[in-house]
Amino acid sequence: MRQTSATVHNRVYARLAKILLLVLGLFIAYCILKSYKKKVQRRDEPPKGAEDMVRCAQCGVHLPRSESLTTNNQAFYCSADHRRLHERAP
Ligand SMILES: [Zn+2]
Repeated sequence: MRQTSATVHNRVYARLAKILLLVLGLFIAYCILKSYKKKVQRRDEPPKGAEDMVRCAQCGVHLPRSESLTTNNQAFYCSADHRRLHERAP
């Protein structure tokens, strides 16, 4: 009797273990899919800190708008020297 009941229990545990493994596997797959989706979304979004690039009217170097100097006529410069040089030039 003991042996049979033990085997029944073992079978139940084996089945439970299988179900648990299945659930665990599904959960892991779900997590992987979720993180993959996040990565894809991040790739689609513009990267943080990306901003308009402007061109220095004097030397033609490209620089972020926030780092550039500008004038009323909407020209951008990489430095105050270049702004001065360009404003002096005819
Ligand atoms: Zn420049």
